[in-house]
Amino acid sequence: METNQTNQTNVIKHVNSIILGAGVSGLTTGLYLQKSKIANDFIIMEESSRVGGRVFTDLFDGNLVENGPNALILRKKEFVTILEDLAIKDQLVYPPTESKKRYICKNGKLILVSPKELLLKNELTDFKAKIKLLIGGYTSLSKVQDFDKNKQNDKQSVFDFFAKRFGNKFAENLITPLISGIYAGDARKVIMKSAFPKFYKFGMRSNSFLLGIIKSLLEERSEKNNTAVTATTKLKGNLASFGDGLKVLTERIYQSVKEQTLLNTSVISVYYDVNNKRWIVTTKNGDRFSCQNLITTIPSVTFAQLISNGGNENKWLSELTNKLKDINYSSVTVLHLLYNKADIKNPSRGFGFLNTHERTLDNNNNNNSRAFALGTLFASHMFPERTKLDQELFTVFLGGDLYPHIKNFSDEKLLNDIHSEISKTMLINCKSKLPNNHLIVRWDLAIPQYDLKHLNFKNWLENNSNESDKHNLYWSTNYINGVSVPDCMINAKSVAEKIIRKYI
Ligand SMILES: Cc1cc2nc3c(=O)[nH]c(=O)nc-3n(C[C@H](O)[C@H](O)[C@H](O)COP(=O)(O)OP(=O)(O)OC[C@H]3O[C@@H](n4cnc5c(N)ncnc54)[C@H](O)[C@@H]3O)c2cc1C
Repeated sequence: METNQTNQTNVIKHVNSIILGAGVSGLTTGLYLQKSKIANDFIIMEESSRVGGRVFTDLFDGNLVENGPNALILRKKEFVTILEDLAIKDQLVYPPTESKKRYICKNGKLILVSPKELLLKNELTDFKAKIKLLIGGYTSLSKVQDFDKNKQNDKQSVFDFFAKRFGNKFAENLITPLISGIYAGDARKVIMKSAFPKFYKFGMRSNSFLLGIIKSLLEERSEKNNTAVTATTKLKGNLASFGDGLKVLTERIYQSVKEQTLLNTSVISVYYDVNNKRWIVTTKNGDRFSCQNLITTIPSVTFAQLISNGGNENKWLSELTNKLKDINYSSVTVLHLLYNKADIKNPSRGFGFLNTHERTLDNNNNNNSRAFALGTLFASHMFPERTKLDQELFTVFLGGDLYPHIKNFSDEKLLNDIHSEISKTMLINCKSKLPNNHLIVRWDLAIPQYDLKHLNFKNWLENNSNESDKHNLYWSTNYINGVSVPDCMINAKSVAEKIIRKYI
């Protein structure tokens, strides 16, 4: 669609800033612009009728479920400060202590991840890994840096990084499931430096992995002491949500920026007017807005499409469009399954289990005939008050970069395959041959993949940061500084602060 607009006529509103998208990134950027008082002339445009984006708490058969993120990791003090700013830190709810247990599911069997399992048993680790674990992952630097000659260290995959230190079996059984759990990604493609920058930095400097981690934690602590981070009170755990789910977080921010948020407003094009140094933003119903600062929070491919639709002739924006289109996203299907507690004979519970993949992948790294789970959360065990007492809720994640074809499977096939898989693992014996109820949610552009293409994009963007500044274009997105909700919110706050500094 060509909506080339080279002048500012027919613009219905001029504002300082427009934020594309009211997910957690867009809302948080708006929240901090609003607080500033000097940069609070902004609009958030959201195509959906609700805010939150991937944060999507839902009601299903009388139970509260999360169709997107399930919990927040509270490790970063900057994030806790944001919760304090919102005055909702006291509303955090924490899973019971037993929920700390995490399992790997191998050949349909649950294996508890514990020091005993890793050091004394042989299911997940071999002799090499055990010795390496005992000596803190010591590996001579010359070995881990053997990419150095080609200056390819930065491009090392998460799989290679760990395989070099702990061996292939360790990487296969623990790291591949971990990356499919966090990024719905392929550990052989996700880049260590992009996904875990701190561990990478110290891991490449120290012979000992353990020493590297300690150094990284110490650096993190000293950085925090040097920042104006205010969070003080001790938290009751590292993982949390809210009683009524994660939507409490996005709804709370929405209350602060409601007046500036336009719901049901799909943006179809953006055009940079070089002469006036302003962006023209056009919505689906034909309204045109102009702003100085454009803040994007929407998926990279969608943003690329909006720039193309705008008919921009600017060379840098054309190049940007091609780079944005290069970023890969995994698709994820979420399947909530409800069973009668009494029908489940396997007593193992905790946070959840991640699957290993050797039984599912053929030599070509694919298997097109069946649906397989990446991982499963013991949802009703983590937050028991959300599910009816006699019911057990499993939230299963499928697809990702390992099984992209799964997004084309019918609901019926997904349900049958996953019910049969989980029944074997959890020893479920229900007469109806299917769960009591189920809900399927499909995310097409679920999670950006921090792979080689992403690394190239980020390097290019960093080298062109003056162009982003020149165009007053801001990146409050989950393909910049981390995909987690806390990382998105920390990044969004720093974007808002950067904009505010311009007005001081
Ligand atoms: C299944 C799943 C599980 C996850 N689990 C966790 C977890 O447990 N913990 C965790 O921390 N993170 C998790 N994540 C990651 C995290 O949820 C996301 O990275 C984060 O919520 C992204 O927020 P965002 O605001 O950047 O983007 P989004 O949430 O995608 O928001 C972008 C918004 O832009 C809107 N939009 C798009 N196009 C347009 C347009 N043309 N015009 C107007 N509006 C538009 C969309 O409707 C959307 O509301 C998970 C993600 C998924 C998909």
